Amino acid sequence: MRKLFYEDCHLTQFSATVTGCKQSEKGWLVTLDATAFYPEGGGQACDIGTLGCVNVLDVREKGEEILHLCDGLLTVGETVEGEIDWDRRFDLMQQHTGEHILSGLINARFGYHNTGFHVGAEVMEVDFDGPISPEELSDLEKKANEAVWKNQSVKCWIPSPEELPAVQYRTKRALPWPVRIVQVGDVDSCACCGIHVAYTGEVGLIKILSCVKFHGGVRLEVVCGGRAYRYMTAVFDQNRTVSQTFSSKILETGEAAKKTQDALAKEKFRANELQKQVFTSIAGRYAGRKNVLHFEENLEPGQVRELADRISRAISGFAAVFSESGSGVSYCLATQDGDLRQLGKALTEALNGRGGGKPNFQQGTVAATREEIRSFFDGNFCVK
Ligand SMILES: [Zn+2]
Repeated sequence: MRKLFYEDCHLTQFSATVTGCKQSEKGWLVTLDATAFYPEGGGQACDIGTLGCVNVLDVREKGEEILHLCDGLLTVGETVEGEIDWDRRFDLMQQHTGEHILSGLINARFGYHNTGFHVGAEVMEVDFDGPISPEELSDLEKKANEAVWKNQSVKCWIPSPEELPAVQYRTKRALPWPVRIVQVGDVDSCACCGIHVAYTGEVGLIKILSCVKFHGGVRLEVVCGGRAYRYMTAVFDQNRTVSQTFSSKILETGEAAKKTQDALAKEKFRANELQKQVFTSIAGRYAGRKNVLHFEENLEPGQVRELADRISRAISGFAAVFSESGSGVSYCLATQDGDLRQLGKALTEALNGRGGGKPNFQQGTVAATREEIRSFFDGNFCVK
């Protein structure tokens, strides 16, 4: 059975003869005399596509055979046209070859090994067994992209038993012959059974998105090729919106955002000071009263609490402050001397509310109109 995917990594269509077709639980397991469908292996996902008029859903290598899981029956002896999903394959080749470039550079610089590799739907995760500083990472990313620009060839071959001892390559353990070697330009030489692009230029772009500590080393999130292009386009679109919002140049949005944040912090401080004055003024209006019911629109829960506290300091009984906002009605009951738990319980029961707190401080939300709230206090507690 010829492994056409090893002979030409760009082969998308081929003809083959069906050598076997067995029904299984998930479909039909088809074998061919030649295939361009790469089976899952070496951390690389399998190809999918079509064989004649049936879909290839999964491809696995079992012993000497490559099994194509199909959703339909094929006749043994017939010639079929196969076509692989090239977008998917090329994307996987770009990620995989990009990983080789980074791993080779990291191995050469630090001696670290690639201890994990997973190509997810969005990003590729690559693990290494040692730390890498942000400065080193930035330089590695630059070197990796320079290797892409050089458009060096990617060669795969199986050295003879005599040649193998002289071949330098990355591997986690000694491997018995035959060993398939992938040589990625002058940046990597590694034992690998996966599928790679033919020239590093096909990787297009390598972008490291994040680096976090992982099992004594680091885990990198990386995107290559089409994924990197789409990611950077999305980031650019976001940044263009930010630049329009701040009326800043597209490469000065960070500075513009910082200035706006500083100005906002100053305004918040000023608004807070003014609010304290307003709350003190409101509390002053109730000075000398016993119990007080007060409504104030659009306060945050923290502000409701602040106002209730200020009013309670000016009176002898309790302050009940309610505030309606888009998210509902917040309340706070406060007293300087007394136990409001019973009042709080009666309030939440009567007004479809929820809340709680300390004996002299009850806070929460209710689902009731001003009239219903007034009626509750009129009927139970004097707030005049
Ligand atoms: Zn590889």
